[in-house]
Formats: sequence, structure tokens, C-alpha cells
Amino acid sequence: MMLFTTNWLSSVLKDVKGKVSEEAVIEKVFTDSRVKKEQSLFIPIQGENFDGHQFVDEAIANGAIAVIWDRKISVPESIPPEIPVFLVDDTLQALQELATQYRQKVNPKVIGITGSNGKTTTKDMVASVMQSTYRTHHTVGNYNNEIGLPLTILDMPRDTEVLVLEMGMSAFGEIELLSKIAKPDHAIITNIGESHIEFLGSREGIAKAKLEIISGLSDKGILIVDGDEPLLQQLHIPNKVISCGFDESNDLSISKVAINHNITTFTLSDSNTYTIPLLGKHHAKNATYAVMIGKLLQVDTKKIFNSLENLKITSMRFELLKGKNGVSLINDAYNASPTSMKAAIEVVKEIQGFKHKVLVLGDVFELGGQSKDFHRTVSEVIKQPITELFTIGNDAEVISNAIRQEVPTITSQHFQSQEELIQELQSYLNEDTLILFKASRGMKLELIIEKLLK
Ligand code: ATP
Ligand code: MG
Repeated sequence: MMLFTTNWLSSVLKDVKGKVSEEAVIEKVFTDSRVKKEQSLFIPIQGENFDGHQFVDEAIANGAIAVIWDRKISVPESIPPEIPVFLVDDTLQALQELATQYRQKVNPKVIGITGSNGKTTTKDMVASVMQSTYRTHHTVGNYNNEIGLPLTILDMPRDTEVLVLEMGMSAFGEIELLSKIAKPDHAIITNIGESHIEFLGSREGIAKAKLEIISGLSDKGILIVDGDEPLLQQLHIPNKVISCGFDESNDLSISKVAINHNITTFTLSDSNTYTIPLLGKHHAKNATYAVMIGKLLQVDTKKIFNSLENLKITSMRFELLKGKNGVSLINDAYNASPTSMKAAIEVVKEIQGFKHKVLVLGDVFELGGQSKDFHRTVSEVIKQPITELFTIGNDAEVISNAIRQEVPTITSQHFQSQEELIQELQSYLNEDTLILFKASRGMKLELIIEKLLK
């Protein structure tokens, strides 16, 4: 499918070496020379370990018919003369500039989504709602950074009506850059947590960094926020703000959340009840953002309902598994922050039908100097009906220490090794027990889960 012609390309990137044929059609833009695709444009990027310029021959062998090139690097003789080479000062900037121009050329309605947690889930929900009514293109997986976002834009078919983009970041300035490329018509901030606090200093800093999303937001664009977060209340910004959340004061508020087996049902202040195939109040909130966007873009309520009920999500993060002797295991060991850890514990508290509810919590990484204090905050939500708490890692120990003192009715223990923990868990392998596993990816809790599966 045609994205644009090399002729259009030369109107954006003016300095070109070689022949530009007016008819040459680009169907794909890529930075990875291993991708096999005819009629493609190759953009070499300098990474930490590799420089894409080294792989231009491979890219051409795999189908590239045009190349972008850093003018400081001499153009190799091996590039055939019929392949136009677009010379630029910086190939990453060129990728971003192309994405900016292509977004304007196609001109869909753009929805930008950022936040500490829940970006991918919300993106999947918004995309699902939009697909019911519009030709929709969206971020695949987690392609949310300064390379992934422009590539997502440059992957959009020319007849796209709605573009849904996830925007990630770990430092100031990054969301501003992404927002200026994407120029969202509407934006969502899912929540403010603690991720990347090392680089952003404080929760206030995190909120400020997320609010950079308005830098590219159109004048009439609406910002949808987590209205339960004090740092997102009473914002002094030029754009209209719509708040969603559990507090009744929100513009769209959530009530009556019920978790049953594999679904969560909730009612909104618009009097409609919705169902999602995901567990937890936090996901009800993510879905509320999708409902709000649906309303703003005139999607029929019945279609919003159906799209949420039949949602396909990027990957089951909160995965319910059956283990040995019928024990129920929840694998949420993909990533963690104190906020998402608390959210997961809240879900476990609400699931019915178990005598024992066991938490296995490991370290959350990248929390900087106050890491232990952040871990300590997780203990605030550990109460009945949780029956056991097991921790592993350096900093997670503060959680079990706190619970041992504050909630003596909960069995609380810290473990030095996965082997000892697996040993202890053996006596919990029965149908009456539910065990949650949550930690940063680097803690490799999935290795414990593997040992407990049937
Ligand atoms: P990443 O930074 O890895 O891209 P993300 O922001 O895309 O993360 P998701 O992948 O959607 O987030 O969800 C990750 C985890 O965050 C979920 O498993 C869940 O535990 C938690 N989570 C999701 N939504 C919320 C929310 N609104 N509030 C708090 N925690 C949430
Ligand atoms: Mg994500």
C-alpha cells in the first residue's frame, strides 16, 4: 500500500543525491535493515551499540529503494545510482520531521495517550472503540518512544481517519517532542505514579513531564485526565480539561465496580454500565477514558459497549493461571511500580472465592534514593482479606517488615532466594489459594511461576 512517493519525500528533505523518479512509491519506512520489504525507505539510526549506516547494503538487498543518510558520513560506492540518497544533518531528526509532515498530509484525528501506568491498556481500549466506527491506526505493542512513535505514524495508511498513539518517556522534554510530532486533537493522561522518579525528582515533576502533552495539542483539543489525582486537578492550561475517576466530583465518574471471574463491570455517571475482560478498578478507569473519547468522537454508545466487552489487549499483563493441585496464580511480573503494585493488590482483595490470598512481591527498580520509602507505601493497602505476604529482593523487605509490625494477623516473611520461596509456597498449592506475583521484570518472578504450574 502506497504511503507516499519519493517525489513527496524530496519536497520534505530537499538535499538529494541521485535520481528521484516521480513514480517511485514508498510502501514502508524502516530503521531495521533486516526487515524484508519491497518499495521501502531505509533510515539508518545511530544507536548505542550499532550505527545503522553500516547496514545499508543489507537494507537495499531487502528491498529499500530510497535511503536517508547522515551527510557527515561518506556515501558508499556500493549504493546503486538509481537509489536516491537523501542527505540530512541527523537521521533521527529526519525520521521525526517526516513523521510530522506525513501526519499533516494524512490529517486524521489524533489521540495521544501518556501517563505513568495504563498507557498501553488505554491505547488498546481507545483503539478498539475507534475501530468500531472509523478507519483506525494505532501504536502496536509498546512502540511509544522517539523512534517508535514516528515509525508508527509512518506506518499509517493514507485513508486513516483516527490515529491512536501511546507516548512514553523517562525524562523531561520527551513528551513535548512526541506531542509536537503527533499534534494530538485530544490527549489523555492516565495517571501519575512514581515510574522514572529518579530522573524527574518528585511526583510533581512527573506530573509536569506528562503535562508536556499539551505542547502539541490543538487549541480546541481536550485533555482528559485522572481526576482523582490531586496533581491533575485545577490545571491552569489553555485547553479544556475533562476529568474521569471514582470521585463523584469528576466530569465522568465511576461507581459500582464489580469483579467477577474474568470480567470487571462498572457504571458511569452517564448511567450506562460497561464490561471489560480485565480485572481491577484501575482498568475500569482506563476504560472510562476510552468511553469519553468515544463520546467526543460521536461513537454510538452501543458500539462503545461492544468494543470494550470484546477487547483484545496487547498482552495479558494480569494473567490468571491454573497451577499444581488447582492453585490459582496471577502472573503480573511483567513490570511494576508502587502504584501498579497497589492496584494489583486491590484487585486480589476483591476477587471472591479463596480462603488464602497470598502476595509474592519483589523489588521495584529505578526508584532512586527514596526507593525504600516508596516500597514502604505499598504496605498501606495490605490488609484483610490478604492472608500471607512473602517478599524477595533488597528493598521489598521493608514491606514485609512493616506488615509484621502493623498487621500481625497476616503471615509475613522475607526470603533470600527463589529456592526458599518456592519451598515455602509448596504448602499453598491447593484450590482454595490465590497467589499474586508482582515485581520489576528483572526480579524474574516468572521463574517461580513456571515451577508452580501443572
Ligand atoms: P509501560 O511504561 O511499560 O509502557 P504502560 O503505561 O503502557 O506501561 P500498561 O502496560 O497498560 O501500562 O499496564 C502496566 C501495568 O500498570 C498493569 O499491569 C497494571 O498493573 C498497572 N495499571 C494499568 N492501568 C493503571 C492505572 N490507571 N492506575 C494504576 N495502575 C495501572
Ligand atoms: Mg506501554
